[in-house]
Formats: sequence, C-alpha cells, structure tokens
Amino acid sequence: RTAYVNGRYVAHGDAHVHIEDRGFQFADGVYEVVSVVDGVFADEDGHLARLSRSLNELELPWPMHPMSLRFVMREVARRNRVRNGLVYVQITRGQAPRDFRFPVDPAPTLVVTCRSTKFSAPQQLEKGVSVITIPDIRWARRDIKSVALLPQVLGKQRAAEAGAFEAWQVDPDGTVTEGCSSNAWIVTNEGVLVTRAASTRILNGITRLSLLAEAEAAGIPFEERAFTVEEAYAAREALISSASTFCVPVTRIDGKPVGDGVPGPLGRRLRQAYLAHVGVDDPV
Ligand code: PMP
Repeated sequence: RTAYVNGRYVAHGDAHVHIEDRGFQFADGVYEVVSVVDGVFADEDGHLARLSRSLNELELPWPMHPMSLRFVMREVARRNRVRNGLVYVQITRGQAPRDFRFPVDPAPTLVVTCRSTKFSAPQQLEKGVSVITIPDIRWARRDIKSVALLPQVLGKQRAAEAGAFEAWQVDPDGTVTEGCSSNAWIVTNEGVLVTRAASTRILNGITRLSLLAEAEAAGIPFEERAFTVEEAYAAREALISSASTFCVPVTRIDGKPVGDGVPGPLGRRLRQAYLAHVGVDDPV
C-alpha cells in the first residue's frame, strides 16, 4: 500500500509524521473522507469546498492547490488499485516546537491515504442498522471537520459494545444532533423527511446536502429542523447518511423498533437517488 505524505508517495508501513506534529499534540488539523465508487469520486466538489471552509476556520492555508490535491487523491487511489473505497485527506498545522500559539512560519502537514472498502453489507440494507443515543459531549464548533474526535471515538465504542452500528448524540434539550460519523434523519408519520438544520451544532454532511437536493428534486417533503429522541422513537423511518455509508436505514433506536422494524420505502428511494446522483450502481 502507498500513502502520500508531504510531497512524497511512500510505502504505507513507512509513512510517518513527526512527534511534534501539531495534529498529534493538539489535534490541530482537519480532514475529509471521500468515497470512490466504481472509480468515481463521489461529491468531490462538496468535500473540497468543506475542506476549504474547515481550513479557513483554523486559519490554515491550503497545503497545495486544490486541483493538485484532486490529482494526488486520484494518484493515491490508483497506486492502491482502489475502485471502491475511501480516500482520507488530513491537513494539520504541521511540525513545530510545542506551543499553543500558531507557529510563526507554519508548514502544514498533508497526508492522503486510500483503502478499498465495502460500503454497506447487504444485510444492513435489508435489515437496517441499530443506533443507541448518548449525550453529545462535543465542543461548540461541530461544523468544523476537525481531527479532534475523542467524543466520537467513545461514542462509537459504546455503540459497538451495545451491538449497535452508530450512536446518535443528543443535546441537553433532548434533540438529536447527529451520529458520531453520520447525519441523522427521520421520516415522520406524515411522510416528512426531517434532518437537523446546518449550524455550529452539527457537521454539515456533504451526503446530507446531496440527499436534501435529491429530496427537493423528487418532490419529497422535507424539513430541516431539530427532532427529539421521543420523536425519533415514534418515527415511521429513520436513516443515517455519510460519505462511507451513503444512506442506510435505521430500524432500531435504543432497542426499540422504528415503525414496523424494517427498512422503509423513502430510505430506499433516497439511497437510489443518491447513487444516481453520483452516477453509479449500488456497489453492495
Ligand atoms: N457528522 C459527523 C460528525 C461526521 O463525522 C460525518 C462523517 N464525516 C458526517 C456527519 C457525515 O458527513 P459526510 O456526509 O460529509 O460524510
């Protein structure tokens, strides 16, 4: 396997950054994950636009021209012979003697890796997945795709221990913010698709944005608003969305079946619409 690190393609096993990299010491960095489906980089423009925004929020410069980054992403995929998988891009404020303040002369670290993956097990689509709910203990700028992911690490571990696929994080007012690595959706009994509005409380998922555009184009009624855990328990359907899952039905929340406990039609329709938007067949 091959990784790209600061201007060089290196063997994955030899790829490294310095112990005083600010990503390692302060989680002072941002990242993106882009899916490669049948060789197509899904929603690449959206992911690069969000990367640009995240960099801007951290006052980090682009480590290279965005067009060059597109090339590097393709080259890493090609060298790893990935036609279906995930590209990971991470940019940190780079190596500097440990000091909280920005270094005077920062040299950002850029890492790009890529690996093959199966997007969703057929069973996940046929049976749906389970989620648990947990308190959202994250910081107040969840709109930045920062590599500071400790709350999500703990949340995903709790989900795994509970036999669940994802943990939905819940704000103190009882509303669901989002999953640890996905956006959260429900379909009300009136057939309205609901997902939380973009704000500093959530990461504005690129898949989320595409699904909303697809819903709009298909005339599916939707609302961008917060929903409570109670409302989710009573929903007809529930879904998660992310670059790595596209859109997967949720059929259990905290052990309670959603609707009749099987994936519903709207979720299926949205997944198909998303894949048509990317221009590929379902890789399942
Ligand atoms: N929310 C969080 C907290 C995430 O980590 C992710 C995955 N990056 C998402 C939502 C989904 O975003 P996207 O559709 O851009 O992958």
